[in-house]
Amino acid sequence: MIQGIGAAAGVAIGKAFVLPNWEWSLPDTQVNPVDLAKEFERLYEGIRTSKDEIEFIKKEFRDVVGPEESSIFDAHLAILDDPVFMSEIRGIIERQYKAAEVAVKEAIDHFVAMFDLLDDEYMKERAVDIKDVGNRLLKHLLGAPEVTLPSDTQPYILVAKELSPSQLAHLNPAYVLGIVTMMGGKTSHSSIMARALGIPLVAGLENKLPVPIQTGDMLVLDGDTGAIMIHPDEVTLKEFNTRRAMQLKKREQLELLATVEAVTKDGVTLRLACNISSVKELNVALKYGAEGVGLFRTEFLYMDRSSFPTEDEQFEVYKLVAEQVGKDSVVIRTLDIGGDKHLDYFQLPEEQNPFLGYRAIRISLDRKDMFKTQITAILRASHYGRVKLMFPMISSIEELLAAKAVLNEVKNELDARGVPYDPDIQVGIMIEVPAAVMIADLLAEEVDFFSIGTNDLVQYVLAVDRMNEQIAHMYHPYHPGVLRMIRMTVEAAQRAGIDVSVCGEMASDERSLPLWLELGISVLSMSPQALLKVKHRTLNTLAAEAREIAKVCLRSRTSSETEEQLNAFVKRSVTLGAGGNAKGRTS
Ligand code: PEP
Ligand code: MG
Repeated sequence: MIQGIGAAAGVAIGKAFVLPNWEWSLPDTQVNPVDLAKEFERLYEGIRTSKDEIEFIKKEFRDVVGPEESSIFDAHLAILDDPVFMSEIRGIIERQYKAAEVAVKEAIDHFVAMFDLLDDEYMKERAVDIKDVGNRLLKHLLGAPEVTLPSDTQPYILVAKELSPSQLAHLNPAYVLGIVTMMGGKTSHSSIMARALGIPLVAGLENKLPVPIQTGDMLVLDGDTGAIMIHPDEVTLKEFNTRRAMQLKKREQLELLATVEAVTKDGVTLRLACNISSVKELNVALKYGAEGVGLFRTEFLYMDRSSFPTEDEQFEVYKLVAEQVGKDSVVIRTLDIGGDKHLDYFQLPEEQNPFLGYRAIRISLDRKDMFKTQITAILRASHYGRVKLMFPMISSIEELLAAKAVLNEVKNELDARGVPYDPDIQVGIMIEVPAAVMIADLLAEEVDFFSIGTNDLVQYVLAVDRMNEQIAHMYHPYHPGVLRMIRMTVEAAQRAGIDVSVCGEMASDERSLPLWLELGISVLSMSPQALLKVKHRTLNTLAAEAREIAKVCLRSRTSSETEEQLNAFVKRSVTLGAGGNAKGRTS
C-alpha cells in the first residue's frame, strides 16, 4: 500500500493510463532581426487561438460543474493578458531575437521556477496555471497535436505527474474511474474539480512510488484515505471490490429516496431544502431531491477573485439558480463576510473579536454601494423564479429597517429603469443573535419569514467561538439555553403567522428531528450531502413518538441528557427499507 493524499473521495479499481509528460524541449531557435514583426504576429495569433480555446473549454466546463469551478479558466485568460508575463516574452523576442515558442518556453520556466521556490501553496498553484496556459500557447505556436486520452476503450485510472485544470476539463468522467497524480494536494484546483465531478483522486505521490506506474498496470485507489496499490493481490482486490460495491449500494439505496416525499410514518410532511454556495452544489442537491434552496450563501461568489462581482455577474448566477430550482423557492442571503470569511480585495480591519465585529449586515449597511449592487441583482433575478431575500445577523429593529430602506431604494431605481422584478418578493432574516430571539415578536412584524442559523446562535448564546478548537467541546447545540432560544423564536413566528425554518448545521443532524416535529418546524435547510440521510430518518420516524421524546428533551437540564435521549431514539427506531412507507412526491 502506498500512501498519498486523499483529495477526492471514493474507491476506484482499474487499469492505469499514464499521461505522457506535457513538457516541451525545444532547440534554441533564433530569428533574423528583420523578421521580428513576423515573430510577434505569430505570438499574437497563438494568444488569440489559445484564448478562444480557453473560452470554449470554460463554457463547456461551466455547463457540467457550474460557474465556480469554470472560473479557474478566467485565471488562465488573465495570464494571457498579464503585462508582466507578456513583457517577459516580448523582451526575449525583441532583445535576444529568439523564436516566439522559445521565448514562451523560457518565460514559463522563469515564472514557474520563481513561484515554485516560494513556500506557499497558492503561489505553487499559480505556477501550475502558468505552465498550463504556457503549454497551450506553445502547442499552437508549434502546431503540435493534443495528447488524446483513450475514450473508446475500457474506463481507466488516469495517472499524471500533475494534472492541469485544462486537462481535467477535457476528461470524460464516464471513462475516468479515478485519478492519481504525483504532485498536488487537497486544495489544488484539479482536486477541487475532481471532487465536483465525483472522480476519486489521490495526489502527492512524488518520490513515494517504488517503481513508476505504467499504462496497463492494475491499480486500486482510495480517495478517502489517500492509499493506492499497484498490482494488488487477490485479497486486496476483493476487499476493494467489496468496499466499492458497498459504497455504491449505500448511495444507490439512499438515492432511491430522492423523489420520495419526506413524510413520517404517521403522515407529518417536512420540506427538506438545501444550503448552497455555488451552482455546482445546487446540481448535487437537486439530484438528491432538494425542495428548493433554504440558504444561498452568496459570499462564495465574492471569493477567489480580485474584485467585487458586478451586478450582471451576480444576476446571472442568481437567475440560473432560480430557474434551475423552478417551482420551489430560493432564499438568497445577502453577503455574510467578516468573522472567518474574508475577501482578498476587501481589507477588513484587524479585530480582537471578529465574530462580534465588522461582519455581515453591519458591513452591508456600511458599504451601501456594494449592498445596493447585490440587492439589485437579487431583485432582477426574482423575475425568473421564486426568489426570497434574507438578511444575515440582524440584531435590532433599526438594522432591519435600514436594510429594508435600501431594498425600497433599489426597488424604486428598478422601477425607474423599467427593469422587471417580483414586487412582492418575500423578505426574511436569519435569527442567529440572541438579541434577535428576545425581540423576535417585534422583528416578526417586519418580515415574512425567519430562518434560524444555529451555527452562530449556538456560539453567541453559549459564548463559545465556533472556530476555537480549544473550547470546541463546549459548543453544544443541545444546550437547554439554545433549545429555549429556538423555541422562543418559533413561538414568536407562529404567533405572528410568519414562516420559520432552520438552516444551521443542526438541521443536517438527523438526531434533531424529534425537536423539529415537537416545535412545529416543517422546513429544514441543510447541506446537500445530508438531505437523503435526514429524509431516510424522517421516513422511519413516528412523529407522535418523537414528540414525546422531544418533550423530555425540552425539559432537560443538560445537553448530555438531551443527546442521550435523541441517540437512544435513533437506535430504537425501526429501519424500513429504502422508500419506507412514503408516497412519491407529487408537488
Ligand atoms: C448559521 O449561522 O447557522 C448559518 C447558517 O450561517 P453561516 O454558517 O453561514 O454563518
Ligand atoms: Mg451565520
